Parts: sequence; C-alpha cells; structure tokens
Amino acid sequence: MVSMNASVTGLGGCREVGRSAFVLDAGEKFLLDCGIKLTPNGSEYPSHVDTNITAAIISHAHLDHSGNLPHLFLKSNPLCYMTPPTLELAEILWHDTLKIAGIEGTVEKFSKEEIRRTKRYSFPLGYKRKIEISQNTSLEFFNAGHILGSAMTKLDFGSFSFLYTGDFKAVETRLLEKADLKVGNVDFVMMESTYGDRDHPDRKKAEEEFVEKVKETVENGGHALIPAFAVGRSQEMVDVLYEHKVKFPVFLDGMSQKAALVSLKYPEYLKEAKNLKNSHKKVEWVRTKKDRMRALDEPGAIVTTAGMLEGGPILSYLKQVYDDRTSSVLITGYQVEGTQGKRLLDEGVIHIDGRDYKVECKVEKFDFSAHASQTELVESVKKWSPRQVLLVHGEYDKALVLKKRVKEETGIDTVILEKDKKHNLDLK
Ligand SMILES: [Zn+2]
Ligand SMILES: [Zn+2]
Repeated sequence: MVSMNASVTGLGGCREVGRSAFVLDAGEKFLLDCGIKLTPNGSEYPSHVDTNITAAIISHAHLDHSGNLPHLFLKSNPLCYMTPPTLELAEILWHDTLKIAGIEGTVEKFSKEEIRRTKRYSFPLGYKRKIEISQNTSLEFFNAGHILGSAMTKLDFGSFSFLYTGDFKAVETRLLEKADLKVGNVDFVMMESTYGDRDHPDRKKAEEEFVEKVKETVENGGHALIPAFAVGRSQEMVDVLYEHKVKFPVFLDGMSQKAALVSLKYPEYLKEAKNLKNSHKKVEWVRTKKDRMRALDEPGAIVTTAGMLEGGPILSYLKQVYDDRTSSVLITGYQVEGTQGKRLLDEGVIHIDGRDYKVECKVEKFDFSAHASQTELVESVKKWSPRQVLLVHGEYDKALVLKKRVKEETGIDTVILEKDKKHNLDLK
C-alpha cells in the first residue's frame, strides 16, 4: 500500500547547527541522521527517537550527524545505511567520544557494546547504487562533496520522492569532487542552510593567504599552530601546504592521523588520491610525547585537533607557546558560539587546565568552508526544482535570508523546519 500521508519531524538540527535528526514518516518511519551538538557545557541531544523506525540513514561521519546513532542501540536494532567511509570514520569518532567521557568523568549515552551493535546492523552503501530498503521505498546515495564519504540521500516512495542533502558543497575542493547534483526528479528537498546568508571568498585566494601566513610565522622563527577538524579539514590543510611546496617541517597530530589513514584507504572517494598520499608521506606524524616535544624544537607548522579548540593536542601546544609573539594560531573552520575557538578569536583568551591564558600569538581565521554558499544553495534548488524546500542545519536568521532568496529567484515554496513540530508534506 502506498501511503497517502507523509510528514517530516525535526528532532534536532532545526534553526541550529548541530544534533541533526529528522524523522520522515511515510507510513514507515525513516530516521535521517542522528547527531549530537557539542557545546562547552557538554553534548546536547536530539529529542527522543521513536524506537519504531524502519531504518536509520546517516549522511556523513561528523558527530552533528552521527554522534547519537549508537544510543539507539540501547533499546532497538534498526538497520542503518551509510557509505563505507562514513561508517569507518564515525566509528573512530564514537570511540573518541567514549575516551573523552572517560577522561572527563562524564557518562555517555552508549558504551562499546552499542558501537559494536551499530556496526553489526549497518549496511554500507556506495554512491549511485539504488536499493530497495522496504516495500515501495528505494534509497540511493549521491556524492555530497562535503567530507570523505558524505552523501545526499534520495528516498523514492513511488508516489513521491524526497532528497535530504545533509551537508554538501557544490564546488570542488582540493581533495573532493563537487556534489553530484544529478539526482533525477525530486518532489521535496530538505537542505542545509549553514551559509544561507552569504558566499565564501575565493578558495584559491584563501589558500594562498593561509600559506603566506604560515610561511611568515615560520620565517620569523615561530610555530604556526593550525587547529583543524580531524575529518577532512586536517587532511586538506596538510595537502594545501605541500601543494605550495613549503620547505619547513609540517607535523600532524591527534585524531587527524586516524582520519587520514581512513581517507588513504578509500581513494575512489577522493578527487586526487595521489596528492593526499604524497602530502601524507611528507608530513611528520606525531605518535609519542617525545614527537610532540620535537614538534616545538624548531620553527614549523603543526596541524592538529580539535578544530574548535575544545580539547585535543592543540591545547598542550598552546600551553607552551601562548606567550610567544612570533607564533600564530591559524583557525581553519567554523567556530560555534561559546566554544574555546570563538573565545580565542573574540577575546584572545584560552582556558587550559583550570586557568585562563592570555594568548600573545597572532590569531587569525580563514574561510575554507566545506558547506555550500548561498549562491550554491540557490543554484542547487534551481537544478532540482522541487515542489517544496525544507530548510534545516542553519541558524534561523541565515535560513530566513536564504528562504527569501529562494522564493525571489525560483518562486518555490520554502519552509524553515521547527524542532519537534511535524511538517506535513503536501502530496496532492
Ligand atoms: Zn558535516
Ligand atoms: Zn553538519
């Protein structure tokens, strides 16, 4: 029987960036993403997920999309679909979540056992392989161009089709192809709106400015500390430096190393696997405490986690060089309000081991976004030409700006989803 009613309910990821989780109910319930929101006061979770779901579909490994998935396995065993690299990267991040909880003495919502069960019930699915996931429902993934293995999800119910973009990027970056927008007919598009209000600066120019700053720091005898997200951004920054043929040592520390190894394992998911391989052959892998000391022995660059400075080796480096005016902290990603990275940018202060440090190094931020810009978002909508656009994964003011522009340029009805509020899809 084909369902005549369908709805989407956001359990999180509505009018905010973080804890993405949406239930698409078309007679059977499908969970699209199951993330958490990392805040300085701990994690925030999506609303309660009904255990009665047919399947969970994960767009990519970032914790704001995957972080709460093992929690579902405390009380249920849903089938999960994601690409092979997503599963592998998410597993690293889940274990890291447990490790951090162990260090901080907090209680996590799942244990190693739930991670094991999540893996057992996960079905790895590549791009453009359409499969039936229940009667009358097919699933197909398309490359989202956001991070390794990121996917846009197309669900076809016979009477209508639904595209969930997850996080995507419609122009190519150094390591990844651009998102594959040729997804066929879609009736409804649920789309991210992180940068709904603006465009990004030219990427090549941003890269050049970044490399210039790193060179300048090293030539002045300092250390260029480059906090970067483990998955994606770290690999890209290492690659950018070596593509610009830097002569000084570049160190790679923290979870970025594990993520790099996964990336190297999946060349078919990369644009230029060869470049990544070459740059990661040249980079110095920090494996021991001694290596970490050595990284500060001579001027050079250090690429390490955490991207928003919420823990990770970046803090132990900063503790050593915070008062060194020749060194610099070059921030390479989006800094959520309230994080240490945001505070460092705004106030020049970092909190480590119970005390505030006034940072004397130069602090700068570069825009290397892996998210679609406003223009990319609007152009994508034009290409898909759906009946309705549902905006998620973006702060409300940004989504509002985007909604207005989509309406003006395409006339397509656009809705900004609200957390815990059921949105009925008009199937007539
Ligand atoms: Zn993401
Ligand atoms: Zn995201």
